[in-house]
Amino acid sequence: MTGKETSGSAGHLDMARKQLLQAAQVIDLEDDLLRVLLETKRELTVHFPVKMDDGSFKMFTGYRIQHNVNRGPAKGGIRYHPDVDLDEVRALAMWMTWKAAVVNIPYGGAKGGVQCDPKSMSLAEIERLTRRYTWEISFMIGPDRDIPAPDVYTNAQTMAWIMDTYSILKGYSVPGVVTGKPIGLGGSLGRLEATGRGCLLTLIRAAKVLGMDLNKTKCVIQGFGNVGGVAARLMSDIGVKIVGVSDSTGGVYSPNGLDVQALMLHKCDTNSVLDFPGSDNITNEELLELPCDILCPSALGGVITRENAPLIKAKIIVEGANGPTTTDADDILYDRNVMMVPDILANAGGVTVSYFEWVQNLQELLWSEEEVNHRLEQIMFRSFDEVYRLSQEKKVHMRTAALALGVNRVAQATRLRGIYP
Ligand code: NAD
Repeated sequence: MTGKETSGSAGHLDMARKQLLQAAQVIDLEDDLLRVLLETKRELTVHFPVKMDDGSFKMFTGYRIQHNVNRGPAKGGIRYHPDVDLDEVRALAMWMTWKAAVVNIPYGGAKGGVQCDPKSMSLAEIERLTRRYTWEISFMIGPDRDIPAPDVYTNAQTMAWIMDTYSILKGYSVPGVVTGKPIGLGGSLGRLEATGRGCLLTLIRAAKVLGMDLNKTKCVIQGFGNVGGVAARLMSDIGVKIVGVSDSTGGVYSPNGLDVQALMLHKCDTNSVLDFPGSDNITNEELLELPCDILCPSALGGVITRENAPLIKAKIIVEGANGPTTTDADDILYDRNVMMVPDILANAGGVTVSYFEWVQNLQELLWSEEEVNHRLEQIMFRSFDEVYRLSQEKKVHMRTAALALGVNRVAQATRLRGIYP
């Protein structure tokens, strides 16, 4: 998945830092503060053994990184993937800081991950890995400190194991230590769909700006998991034709539209979107260049590069994934008048409803799904409008505008707090 310009995760960190430099120029950020924000605040690397089903022990490496906590406790997902490494987690933590600030919720940014291949592990092995990793990072997390959530190849069950392990360590139940939990354990209604719903809400706003009738549009989605799968379903519910979808095994294309519900059942049965009746199999590379109006990359980072950016047909890109577009590709797309809804805005629905979940846990409240969705809509529409206005005012990319908005809020908080001592 990683594009040539960002070979390896150092590429993601370079990208995140370049983006920060661009935003810093727009808001005339002082050099001193820029130096603070370019670095992560706390980094923990852990190496730990996990007992495998055959009785052997295997060593794993995991990370938890807090980029900035000036606006509130750190917040960010945990990823299980073979490519996870320190620089990738650093970049993802930095993006979390800006994301929370763009939607103006009182969190800092963090990220975690374990280098592993969950697809080759049994559920029991993944549970033991999760519990041991939680124990290793337990002194760094907590409802007032740092609150993990699901990310690639982690889900509500993973969060339940983290919550249970952390609660056992404390001696009492601590639901607010993670978000994205199962509903029966204090999870919020609407959280499972929140990131995909956020993508839909920002798409609605982007289409309005461009005067585009969504009922007459075609969309291609890369990734068919929590973000891509939900985005596909919600977009098709409002009349967007989903013509291409992919997962890690490859993609499928049907110019007349795919039946998203049937495709979900097909993926459940076969573990892949490939060979879906009435569609053609394609590669993930071909998928990005398909004829369509909307492209929603919702898998991994670094997939839209300077090589394929000139070939992308979409007029709107909604970044469900974190960091799917390299900085070179951003410039090409901007010159080509493609409306970019950047990751720190487009996929901020997840952290927003995570915040709602945490608020409900801390106050022992239960909000209805309607209430959650209504609050989410207000925040996503307001945030899109603020970013769009700034991009017009400063004549910069939507990404630079989103970053400028977020970085400015973090910088303000840092100035107010001052540098101790
Ligand atoms: P997920 O594990 O639920 O789904 C990931 C999907 O990507 C799967 O369909 C998988 O098959 C596909 N995929 C994996 N490797 C691929 C490849 N090489 N090519 C094409 N597809 C591939 O993960 P998710 O939670 O949907 O996260 C997807 C992206 O969204 C990530 O970048 C994540 O950081 C970002 N994100 C997630 C959330 C959230 O709430 N889950 C919030 C914000 C951002």
